[in-house]
Amino acid sequence: MSRKQKKMLIRILTAAVMLIVLSVIPVKGLARFVLYMIPYLVIGYDILWKAVNGVKNRQVFDESFLMAVATVGAVALAVYEKSGDYTEAIAVMLFYQIGELFQSYAVGKSRRNISELMDIRPDYANIEKDGKLERVDPDEVGIGTVIIVQPGEKVPIDGVIVEGTSTLNTSALTGESLPRDAKAGDEIISGCINMTGLLKVRTTKEFGESTVSKILDLVENASSRKSRSEEFISKFARIYTPAVCYGALALAFLPPVVRMAALGLSPDWETWIYRALTFLVISCPCALVISIPLSFFAGIGGASKAGILVKGSNYLETLSRTKTVVFDKTGTLTQGVFEVNGIHHSPMENEKLIEYAALVESASSHPISRSLQRAYGKPVDRSRVQDIREISGKGVTGKVDGVEIAAGNDKLMDSLGIPYIGCHSAGTIIHMAVNGTYAGHIVISDAVKPHAREAVQALKAAGVEKTVMLTGDGQKAADQVARELGIDQVYSGLLPAGKVEKVEELLQSQSPASKLAFVGDGINDAPVLGRADIGIAMGAMGSDAAIEAADVVLMDDDPLQVAKAIRISRKCLRIVYQNIIFAIGVKGICLILGALGIASMWLAIFADVGVMILAVLNAIRALFVKNL
Ligand code: ADP
Ligand code: MG
Repeated sequence: MSRKQKKMLIRILTAAVMLIVLSVIPVKGLARFVLYMIPYLVIGYDILWKAVNGVKNRQVFDESFLMAVATVGAVALAVYEKSGDYTEAIAVMLFYQIGELFQSYAVGKSRRNISELMDIRPDYANIEKDGKLERVDPDEVGIGTVIIVQPGEKVPIDGVIVEGTSTLNTSALTGESLPRDAKAGDEIISGCINMTGLLKVRTTKEFGESTVSKILDLVENASSRKSRSEEFISKFARIYTPAVCYGALALAFLPPVVRMAALGLSPDWETWIYRALTFLVISCPCALVISIPLSFFAGIGGASKAGILVKGSNYLETLSRTKTVVFDKTGTLTQGVFEVNGIHHSPMENEKLIEYAALVESASSHPISRSLQRAYGKPVDRSRVQDIREISGKGVTGKVDGVEIAAGNDKLMDSLGIPYIGCHSAGTIIHMAVNGTYAGHIVISDAVKPHAREAVQALKAAGVEKTVMLTGDGQKAADQVARELGIDQVYSGLLPAGKVEKVEELLQSQSPASKLAFVGDGINDAPVLGRADIGIAMGAMGSDAAIEAADVVLMDDDPLQVAKAIRISRKCLRIVYQNIIFAIGVKGICLILGALGIASMWLAIFADVGVMILAVLNAIRALFVKNL
C-alpha cells in the first residue's frame, strides 16, 4: 500500500469509528450538527474541494461534483426537516471513499504486477579496468565495448559473446521458463539473466537501442493508446453525467410543481429532493470509468507475462477480431537458419565460391547472409569488400578483392542480365555471378520452426478463418513449406512491395468487421507490418525496424504465440463487454428504483461500490492468461 492509500485508510477508519461513537451519544440541535460535521469533513474534505475546483474550472459534471451535491443536499435536508439524520450523508461519503481506495489499490497492484513482470531494467554494466571490475551506467557504454556479465546478473546491453559459456534465463522476456545455453559467438539480448558462467560480451548496440530499453518503452507507452471501447466510455461519461444531473434537477422540481399546480396536492418537496439526491448518488459512473481501462491494462500485462508485448489496448481489440492471418515465411514460419545442401555448376572451388558469397553478404542482416557466414566458418575481413548493395527480395552485389560479385535469386540475375541455370533441388537457390559471368548456385535449405504446424492449427481452433503465406522465395520452396504446415494460400516470388500489394488485396476482400494480422520478422517486410490491420513481429530475431513498425511483438519468435495472443485478446474483450453490460444494467435499474423512491441513498451507494468492486475483480481476471 502506498502512503496515500494508508492515509486514506486511516481517514476511513477514523470517520467510521466517530460515526459509531456518535450514534450512541444522544446530543441534539446545533451540537449534534457540529459533531457530525467532523467525520463528514474528515472523510469528504477532498471530494468537496475537488467539486469546488471543478465548478471554478467549469468542469462541473464529474464524480466529485455528484458526491458533493448529493451529500451536502442530504445534510441540508436533514437540517431543514430537523430530523438530525446526518448519518446517511457521511455513510455515502464513506462508502464512496472505500470504493476509491479499493480501486486505487487494484490499479496500483496491476501496474506493479506489470513492472514486476517486466523487471528487466538493468542498473549497471561491468567494465574491466586495470584488472578490476567497475560498475558504470549502461547509458555510458559505447558500441563495441566489452562488458562483463557475472552469474546472477542481468545482461544490460545487446551484444555478442566473446568469451565464456553459460545458461541464460529469458523468462522475463519471453515467458519461456526453459533456460537457454549460450557460448562464445552467440548473440545475446539484454534483459535476460546470466545464470551459471561468467560472460564477456562485446556490445553491438547502445543501451537506448537495446532490447530492454525498447521493450520498456513499449510497455510504458502501451496504456496511452486508447481502444474504441475506452473512447466510447469517455464519450459516454461526457454525455451521461450532465444528463443525470439535469435528470435529478427535473426529479426535484417537476413532480412537486405538477402536484401543486395540476393535482392540487401538497408539493412534498422533501421526498422529491431526497429522491433526486439519491438519483445523483446512484448515477456515479465510476465502475465503468475505472474497470474498462483496468481490464485492458490487465490484458496487456497478462500478455506481456506470456512474452507477448501489445503496444496498446486498441490492438487487443483489433486482435480479438482477427479472421485472416498472413505469415511471412523466412524467419517467421521457418527458422531462418539455412544449411548449405549443395553447390552446382560452379567453375571454381566450392570453398572459394562460399568465401565470395560470405564476404559479399557480410553487411546483410538477412538470415541467408548469416547462414552463409556460418558455412564459411572464418572471420570476415570487411576491408576486402567494397560497394555493397543489398536489393530487397533479390540479393546483394559488391566487390570482393576488386572482383564484382553478385549473390541472389533469379530476379537478381534477370535484373543484371546474367543468364543462369535453374535448379531441380528443393530449397532456396542463391545464384552467384563473378565479374558478370554466371558462377553456379548454392542450394540452401531451411527447416520449419518446431511449432509452426501446431501454430497454424491453433489459429484455426481460435476462430481464424484463413491463413496465408507470403514469401520472396521461389515457388517450389514456398509450396513445400505451405503443404507441410497446412497453410490455405501461398504467394511466392514477391518483392517487398509485392507483399504490401497482396496484403492490400486481402484487406479489400474481407468484410470491414473482420481484421487481418500480418506476422513477420521485419527483414524485408516492415512496410507490410505497418499496412496490415495489426502487425505482429518476431522480437528476438526480428529487426529493430520490425519491432518499431509492429503493433504486437512476440518475444520468443514462436509462431504458436500468435494464437495465444488472439485468445488473450478475446478473453480481455469478453471481460470488457461483461463489465460494460453489467455496470450499465445495474445502474439503469438503480436509477429507476431511485426515481420511484424504492431505493434509498444507502442502497444506492452499496450498489455502486458493489458493482465497482465486482467489475474491478472481473477486470483483474484478464491478467491471468497462463492456461489460455
Ligand atoms: P521471405 O519473404 O521468405 O522472408 P525475403 O523477402 O526476405 O524472403 O527474400 C526473398 C528472396 O530474396 C530470398 O529467398 C532470396 O532468394 C533473395 N534474397 C533476399 N536477400 C538476400 C540476400 N541477402 N542474399 C541472397 N539472396 C537474398
Ligand atoms: Mg522475411
